[in-house]
Amino acid sequence: MDQVLVECIYCSSEFNPARGKGDHVFPAALGEFEGLRVFRGACPKCNNEIGKSEEELIRCGMEAYLARVSDPPRRRRTTNPKWVGSKTSPPPVMSTKRHGAKLRVRPVSRNPQDIDIPDQIVIEDQDGNHYPILLHAKWTKNSVRAKINALGIVGKFNVHISVSDESRVKLEQVAEVLWPGEELNELPLTEVGNHPVEINHVFQVTDHYFRSIVKMALHYYLCYNKRGKLGNEPEFAAVREFIKNGGEPNQFLISPKESPVKVGTPFGRTPCGGAITPREWCHFFFAEDSAEFIVVCINLFLGPGYVQEPLFVRLGDRLSTETDGGVWAHHLQWTPGATVKGTIKEIAVGYQQNIQILAGPGLSQIDRSSWSGMIF
Ligand SMILES: [Zn+2]
Repeated sequence: MDQVLVECIYCSSEFNPARGKGDHVFPAALGEFEGLRVFRGACPKCNNEIGKSEEELIRCGMEAYLARVSDPPRRRRTTNPKWVGSKTSPPPVMSTKRHGAKLRVRPVSRNPQDIDIPDQIVIEDQDGNHYPILLHAKWTKNSVRAKINALGIVGKFNVHISVSDESRVKLEQVAEVLWPGEELNELPLTEVGNHPVEINHVFQVTDHYFRSIVKMALHYYLCYNKRGKLGNEPEFAAVREFIKNGGEPNQFLISPKESPVKVGTPFGRTPCGGAITPREWCHFFFAEDSAEFIVVCINLFLGPGYVQEPLFVRLGDRLSTETDGGVWAHHLQWTPGATVKGTIKEIAVGYQQNIQILAGPGLSQIDRSSWSGMIF
């Protein structure tokens, strides 16, 4: 059979697109879907290279949290509750406030809402900043003192203590050495059992996070566009450069106001204050190829009780002299914990004006405004 070679849209080298796995429109960790098209315009080397950005999306972003809540179908499903960061960013940090102290919490199962509070002391400096120091099983007064010193706190500080009886005895024995003359604030004991607490999540991401979202948008567009666009056209030069080498995400992630489309999801807040959320977990993709610029709207992890703002990605300009590529959308749906792949279906979309949405258990504590480069 003849090999039909194509040019990689990222590096222009020629390669055989029939080889290799290609790029699924989005990372398998966010769910595997029956019949989702595969993007074959990137050579294996570039595919591998740009794929590295995905690690931040699936491990460090809010998507890491929502993937655990919604449990999409995927191979190599893990039940390990541990959060692991990417090479470029730490894993999400979870904390809760108890009696005025900001305590670190840790998940005890895949469900991130299922947590416990490990033994720890919290150092509070004079500016009111809280620094939790976890007391691992083998902690010593020297290891704790080293951690406190590493904080570089000048002047007096408060120490909040949240420990089991065993660690308490040990702490009392070394308190004078660790904190000569400092004020200790022992938190009241919590009775054994289940208690609801509010959990605060901090997600730290770099431009890799946004590069993987923009890549998802571009490859989705290229897989489904009706104008025969391959991705190597000049209007996509800037977006290719960003995906490959990084840069300022705000050129591509635009605010809903800047977008020529006012979303297409059937879900969101209603005028009377409620919200329409889907009965089953899903992702939602929408492409606008008929306006002055090409926009893909991505809404990941919509589910029972969960709606978030969609992300609008501006891929490039569409000249008015070009044909109208229309609009289209896909609804990707799954049942949590299912072992069969989720379904993908093309859907008709409506338009909506107000899309400032962030609701759902746990989500109210997520502050997206602090995300670097985020513009909502
Ligand atoms: Zn390449």
